Order: sequence, then structure tokens, then C-alpha cells
Amino acid sequence: MPDSARYSRQTVLPEIGPEGQRKLAEASILCVGAGGLGSPALLYLAAAGVGRIGIVDFDRVEESNLQRQILFATAQVGQSKAKAAGARIAALNPLIAIEAYEGELDAENAGPLFKDFDLILDGTDNFAAKFLINDAAVKYGKPWVYAAIQGFAAHVSVFNHAGGPCYRCLYAEEPTERILNCAEAGVIGAVAGLAGVTQALQALQIITGHESFQPLSGKLWTLDARTMEARTIALPRDPVCACCSLPPEEIVLSYTPQVCAIDEVREIGVAEAMGLTGAVFLDVREEYEWAGGAIEDAQFWPLSQMMEGEMPDLPQGRTVVLYCQKGIRSLQAAYILKAKGLNNVVNLAGGYDAWRRAQ
Ligand SMILES: [Zn+2]
Repeated sequence: MPDSARYSRQTVLPEIGPEGQRKLAEASILCVGAGGLGSPALLYLAAAGVGRIGIVDFDRVEESNLQRQILFATAQVGQSKAKAAGARIAALNPLIAIEAYEGELDAENAGPLFKDFDLILDGTDNFAAKFLINDAAVKYGKPWVYAAIQGFAAHVSVFNHAGGPCYRCLYAEEPTERILNCAEAGVIGAVAGLAGVTQALQALQIITGHESFQPLSGKLWTLDARTMEARTIALPRDPVCACCSLPPEEIVLSYTPQVCAIDEVREIGVAEAMGLTGAVFLDVREEYEWAGGAIEDAQFWPLSQMMEGEMPDLPQGRTVVLYCQKGIRSLQAAYILKAKGLNNVVNLAGGYDAWRRAQ
């Protein structure tokens, strides 16, 4: 039974009321990923009294997570995220049921898991996982709440809900400009928090369903957290979408985990890079990093600009050595430039850090 004191500040709202609270108590939500998005989302969903919450995460808590993954305490470094997250929200609200799945969502377990929940919340940080969530959600008829963050940009939408589009109506195939992993790209915890809290609010709107609520189905909400300028862009459904235009039984789930190092781009060490004659060095870090020191005579063009489709003007006949701080963002940049037809790019393994150590 709903605890009347616990939920009184929301049941007093006419948009929620005892009826909305009952719907929340009867609802089930599966959160894929207990990271920067999942942390705030799970806390608010549990606090609001969502009756059953599933948490899928294969990872362990690391010290570098604590800056944004507010479910976890310093003493939990090394513990399973799924279990630690489950324990945290159980302590917050003992009236709800919590199921923690330690493992990665894949093409085999997505079906059985999704069938068992009313709504899916996406707390992942890569395209491969988001496509899998989308395809499984469409196949099993579940709405899902999407979010992505990059730097100071946050995006939130609702897919496969009330006749609206799915994620593949927006992106038919995995973009070649692979999404940056938070480990390297940089993120402010509060920006991830804004996106995760917005996701929780979307889920609560969909479940309680008051007529005044307008969930982000068919709309992409974007926020630039530098200026706090928010926009809502219409997302039409693609009538020939490769996923949601198919009958469910024809949707085939597949999942290839995203790996950071693929051997299509040649990587070279510092010694080899120093020995190159006539090579151009291209720094793809952000301006504040470039300003703090760079390789002599290097050119500058941040990866973030390439991801917005703006390409640097590079010589065709010379080797271009891409570098960033540690060699991961520059690898992404190399793939983008290769996709644009520039084949003379190599990646500096270890990045500027390795370069400086060799001086
Ligand atoms: Zn679609």
C-alpha cells in the first residue's frame, strides 16, 4: 500500500493524486545502466514510489565515476554497480521491489528482460547499446526514454510511445561519428544529472498519464548547459523505418559491443611520430587544452567541431598525425576523417601525455 506520508507532496498535486500514485505503485521500469544518467533517474523513480525497478549494469564502481554517479559512495569503489545501486535505492524506499542484474544487456537477454517491464530508461553512453534498446523496445512494445550527453549538450526524447517515432527513425544506422565515451570526452556531473532527472520526469509522466502531460514523444529536447538555452525539435516518424515499420517478429536483435581500438586506423608511437618528415600534427582537443600547451607547429581542430560536421582543411599528400590528451579522442577523429575520404591519417598512441613524457 502506498505510504501516505511518504508521497503526500506529490499526491496533493491534481496531476498525480491518489490515482497517479496507484499507477506508479503498479508500474515497473527497467533502467539500463547505473551511471551518470541512471543515478539521478533511479533515485527519483524510487523516491516517487515506482513499484518495481530493474537495474542492469555490468560495471564496477570506479573512483572517476563518483563525480557524476551520485548513487555511489567512496567506500563502494570496486563494488558491482547494479548491486550498489539496488542497495542505495532500497535504503531510500523500502516499499518498492528492486531487481539488480549484474551483466551487460545483449541480444539474448534483452527480450526476456524487456518483456517483464512496462518502460525502459536508457542510461547508456554508446550507440550500440541504444540501438539494441530501441530494437528490443519496439519488438516488445515498450516505450523508452532516451538521453545523451556530450560536453555541455544534453538530449532527451521518448521513443516508441503513443504512435511516435523510434530511435532508428532518427538514426537509421550507427553513425560513423561514434559517440564519445564519458571516460575521455569530459562531462560535468550536473549536466548528466539534468538529463537523468528529465528522463525520470518523462517516465513519471508516461506512467501517471495526466491529460496535461506532453511527454517528449516525437520531440527531441536539447539543452545547451553553457547558456541554458533549451530547444524542442520535432522528430517525425519515418514511414519506411528499418525498425518500427516492420512487424515485431521481423525485428532481429543484434549487439556488437563498442570497442575503442579498432585496427583500421594505424597507430604510431611517439618515437615513430618524431621521425616522420613532412608530417602535419593535428591537435583535436578542446581549446582550453590546446591553450595549455601543444606539440610545436601543430594545427588545431577540435573533435567536437568534427562531430558537428565541420572538417579541417588538411593537405592530401602528407601524413596527418592526430593527437589528443591520451590518444582516444584522436582515434575517433581519425575514423571521422577516414569516413570523409582522408586516408593519410594516423593516430598518436598515448597522445600528448606520451609526447611530453618523451621530451
Ligand atoms: Zn522507427
